[in-house]
Amino acid sequence: MLISCRRATELVELRSAAPLSLADRARLEMHLRICTACRRYSRQSALLDAALSGPGAPIPSEEVERVIAAVNDRLDR
Ligand SMILES: [Zn+2]
Repeated sequence: MLISCRRATELVELRSAAPLSLADRARLEMHLRICTACRRYSRQSALLDAALSGPGAPIPSEEVERVIAAVNDRLDR
């Protein structure tokens, strides 16, 4: 069963807060395989997490804004 882009982005967000269940991971993985936009979103989210949890590396504000804009764009759909 395929999940919506909205659900996929939610799972990406949840993933950065806590490990997903096996079922959710499989659903997300399946969605990311067919959806370029969510794949890009997932990658950005992973980069952001890495930056936030990294050794105090500052995130360029335009990068943060780009990610936020991408999130809003997805949620509007
Ligand atoms: Zn999608």
